[in-house]
Amino acid sequence: MLVVVLSGPGGAGKGTIARALVDGDARLSLSCSWTTRERRSDDAEDAYVFVSRPEFDGRLEAGGFLEWNEFLGCAYGTPVPDANATRDLLLEIDVAGGRQVLEHTPEALCFFVDAPDDAELRRRLLGRGDAPDRAEQRVVEAARERVEADALGYRRVVNDVLEEAIVEIRDLIDAARSSS
Ligand code: 5GP
Repeated sequence: MLVVVLSGPGGAGKGTIARALVDGDARLSLSCSWTTRERRSDDAEDAYVFVSRPEFDGRLEAGGFLEWNEFLGCAYGTPVPDANATRDLLLEIDVAGGRQVLEHTPEALCFFVDAPDDAELRRRLLGRGDAPDRAEQRVVEAARERVEADALGYRRVVNDVLEEAIVEIRDLIDAARSSS
């Protein structure tokens, strides 16, 4: 089973890319994370399993997460996949989570989906309804993650033209499949 990791700042478009990849590929399934953050108005119905902190901690203590992290005060985790799963797995997680995945699955394919520059990232964050201080925190966090992703060997994909970013990632997934 191939594990594909999509990281990158909120607002760079990785959610849209993840959806398009899964919709166009019957062999790929999108992992649904658990989170303790509040639902946002632009969240898809099935974006996350929204849980309380005690529920999250209960699953964590039971060893139920493949990886997890705290991001801006909220917990996010990838449930351990079903042992019988046959489809490749797409994880939309942050770089700290990608690091944990690479520790036990070094052959995982990791992409850092980025906006063309900080001004565009800020514009997209504000456009989706982030408060200005929250957007600023995310721009700063993105700069830190970019460096960490580079050090881990992530491939950076700039989401300027959406369709091109999708094709770039899809081609690399296909190449990884045919070489395994
Ligand atoms: P957001 O609040 O914008 O939905 O997500 C915030 C950050 O948490 C994003 O970078 C997103 O990729 C990351 N994230 C979402 N789910 C998970 C998860 O299961 N594990 C980890 N490590 N990060 C996650």
